[in-house]
Amino acid sequence: MAENAKVDANCLFCKIVSGQIPAAFVKKSDRVTAFNDITPQAPTHILLIPNQHFENMAAVAKNDPSLVGEIISMADEIAIENGLESYRTNINTGAGAGQSVFHAHLHLLGGRAFAWPPG
Ligand code: 5GP
Ligand code: ZN
Repeated sequence: MAENAKVDANCLFCKIVSGQIPAAFVKKSDRVTAFNDITPQAPTHILLIPNQHFENMAAVAKNDPSLVGEIISMADEIAIENGLESYRTNINTGAGAGQSVFHAHLHLLGGRAFAWPPG
């Protein structure tokens, strides 16, 4: 990562990107990292995150819109590689919506049926 990369020394997901905290990595690019969620809510439950620190996906969109596209494209690649015919992607923004880690992430869930509307 570039020397001026955005990193939060106290952030769990920044520590996963840097290797300080282990994770089951699924795919990596120079800008995006995908790893298995530690508490899977479906047979496939993968988190995709920007390698740089942003508080949420809206901040990614405002600062670097193409990075949002890279994250969604990687999610689709992973879904295809996992043989998922359909899948759900989820972005929680703010504690009231269920965001618990304040480093932007996209949930990729698959391998079971999903209800709508979500809870
Ligand atoms: P949020 O609730 O912020 O949308 O999603 C955060 C996700 O991070 C949760 O699904 C949670 O299970 C996952 N998570 C929390 N801590 C860890 C960890 O240390 N490692 C991994 N791989 N996932 C984590
Ligand atoms: Zn971070």
